[in-house]
Amino acid sequence: MKTVYLCSICNISSGNCGEDCAFCTQSAHNNTKIERYRQKELKDIIYEAELAKKSRAVGFCLVTAGKGLDDKKLEYICKIATKIKKDISGLSLIACNGTATKEQLKELKKAGIDSYNHNLETSKEYYDSICTTHGWEERFQTCLNIKDAGLKLCSGGIFGLGESVDDRVSFMDSLQELQPDTVPLNFFHPNPNLPLENKTVEIEDALYWIRYARQKLQNSVIMVAGGREITFKDRWTEIFQAGANSIVIGNYLTTKGNKPNKDIQTIEKLGYKIAQNCNK
Ligand code: SF4
Repeated sequence: MKTVYLCSICNISSGNCGEDCAFCTQSAHNNTKIERYRQKELKDIIYEAELAKKSRAVGFCLVTAGKGLDDKKLEYICKIATKIKKDISGLSLIACNGTATKEQLKELKKAGIDSYNHNLETSKEYYDSICTTHGWEERFQTCLNIKDAGLKLCSGGIFGLGESVDDRVSFMDSLQELQPDTVPLNFFHPNPNLPLENKTVEIEDALYWIRYARQKLQNSVIMVAGGREITFKDRWTEIFQAGANSIVIGNYLTTKGNKPNKDIQTIEKLGYKIAQNCNK
């Protein structure tokens, strides 16, 4: 029986990012209407972590907008991780805080972070077309740092940015080289204020690339993350037949998701098991 891993994400520092990633509503270069705040209060994060646990998430991801970690951010995230690990049992903690050195990642690990998310986003060849303020190579390097620091690696990307089939193949080749523990596949969520074509990925196309990822990355958890609802609509459970075995439940960073209970009921009706912990 297929086991489905649920993960919940928490936007602990939102918006005002100086980078110019074309797909991102949190970039200050893109004039989007989103909530912006520097640091979410610890009590609110704990509340969300408890809610995630009740919603049967096994992973809880602490996400900050911005290029990468600095001393202040590192201290803030370590404080949150320590508190969650002390108060809530059984949640695997993921940090997603941009570029990071091996030393910074080791600090996070010491504080209780289990896994670090840093997406390659797209192919090495196409990256400059969607971001000009930093390069793909440093993203790849951070992924290597994550592994070197002894954290689990969560790395994937996003489809629907105008990339070619060759770009997608190259992106998958790079992921294969990294062998992430988890590969989040996002599908572009159009927004009229983003400098990209205002359209979603076709369902059949999206399912093809999930199947491709499943074959290419046989030891990784394949997670369908942002854009699931808007891309697949009422056909979203087909992602599991295509090879996905994980989803993000609840809301995303700046867009709303389905109600977790509704998704869980649907998954269980199909006869799939909801994972009780992150162990494969
Ligand atoms: S670095 Fe992250 S938060 Fe900043 S614009 Fe790029 S994707 Fe968005």
